[in-house]
Amino acid sequence: MTGKELQKKLGWEFPDIAKKYPEQLEEAGRFCEGYKEFLNEGKTERECVKKAVELLEAAGYRPLDKNASYTAGDKVYMVNRDKALIATTFGREPLEKGLRINGAHIDSPRLDLKPNPLYEKEGLAYFKTHYYGGIRKYQWGTVPLAMHGVVYLEDGSKVEISLGEKEGDPVFCVTDLLPHLAGEQSGRKLSEGLKGEELNIVVGSLPYEDQEDVKEAVKLKALALLNQYYGMTEKDFLRAEIEMVPAYKAVDVGLDRGMIGAYGQDDRVCAYTALEAEMDVKEPFYTTVTILTDKEEIGSVGNTGLHSDYVLHYIETLAEMAGADVKEVLTHSLCLSSDVNAAYDPTFASVYESRNSSYAGKGCVLTKYTGARGKSGSNDASAETMARVIRIMDEAGVCWQAGELGAVDAGGGGTIAQFVAMMDVDVVDLGVPILSMHAPFELASKLDVYHTYLAFRAFYSAS
Ligand code: MN
Ligand code: MN
Repeated sequence: MTGKELQKKLGWEFPDIAKKYPEQLEEAGRFCEGYKEFLNEGKTERECVKKAVELLEAAGYRPLDKNASYTAGDKVYMVNRDKALIATTFGREPLEKGLRINGAHIDSPRLDLKPNPLYEKEGLAYFKTHYYGGIRKYQWGTVPLAMHGVVYLEDGSKVEISLGEKEGDPVFCVTDLLPHLAGEQSGRKLSEGLKGEELNIVVGSLPYEDQEDVKEAVKLKALALLNQYYGMTEKDFLRAEIEMVPAYKAVDVGLDRGMIGAYGQDDRVCAYTALEAEMDVKEPFYTTVTILTDKEEIGSVGNTGLHSDYVLHYIETLAEMAGADVKEVLTHSLCLSSDVNAAYDPTFASVYESRNSSYAGKGCVLTKYTGARGKSGSNDASAETMARVIRIMDEAGVCWQAGELGAVDAGGGGTIAQFVAMMDVDVVDLGVPILSMHAPFELASKLDVYHTYLAFRAFYSAS
């Protein structure tokens, strides 16, 4: 055997999908049209749940009925407080053989309005914000923003807000200094380029028509318009959840259109691919549990985040209905914690370790552990779990790669994996490599999106 032959036999390198399977580009592009639509219609966790329910209902799913009895191929879902969702296709095997669980999150970094947000200063009306999730604050200045959310009025009625998305809608914006006057600001640390209390959003510039005895006429005009559009008053902000998110739509990136650029791809890219795979599966071997969860970006807290017991309770319900021991169900289950990873960025090579990074265009990325400072806060999947997932993907011809989130001690991060593991479930992270993660405009390779979908489909179908 020549050295070259031996090298091929013993060595391993992850292939470039576009070089190995150029014929897949077209199918990946087609798949991503649906993904772009999902991104455009789901800019908040609530909107993602709404869109997912629409898709699930159309695919024959019905709300889980505790008094019904289900057989292989039956499809159900459960919504948690309009912000998270679980979908299931019943399998042929008894529940004690374990579930195939796939969890992605549908919340993304953004600017939330403070409880008392509206004020006027020197003839301009603003919203005060408190950012949600890990953002680089300087990136959010001068970005067109849309206003999304819900507000409950005095009479108890619920009003949904989505302003800044349709053609002709007004948008909103955080201002930044002109370079001519930014001498002092430019000397700040980048993390303070824009400070938290500087993330103030311009919402108005004109005074209310009748200004007699009115102190803040511009603020009043903004309130009058909010009242006209949504029936709300200033007090109603206290009964609202309003999220300011980038106003633009998902688009193709590059002359070759090989990538998608959009807000919120972390982690709606895994949510969409998981949902599509869930809907595709007919009569799987194992019962599936597809979770679209909330609050991952702030530590999976709250009762719509994975740290709460809502998933456990759902699985307990399934077990009770089937007369199965929930402990047996959980201990035999396998879960993908489906979340994005940082794609290697050649411009900022020093924070990556090139042999252990994921690359745009090499497929979905299997992440054995996340965490920081010695894997702290990670799940660290076992060799056994890695072997099971790798076998499923290899047998289905999925292009996958392995990668860490950056070089050792360069930073780090966490996912829902640790909370799934707390239920005594085997779990590993899998997702799409992303460039500019958490920025108002994130990039993903269409081929990676498509192969993540293929991975999820294989995961649900495999015996
Ligand atoms: Mn994520
Ligand atoms: Mn994230």
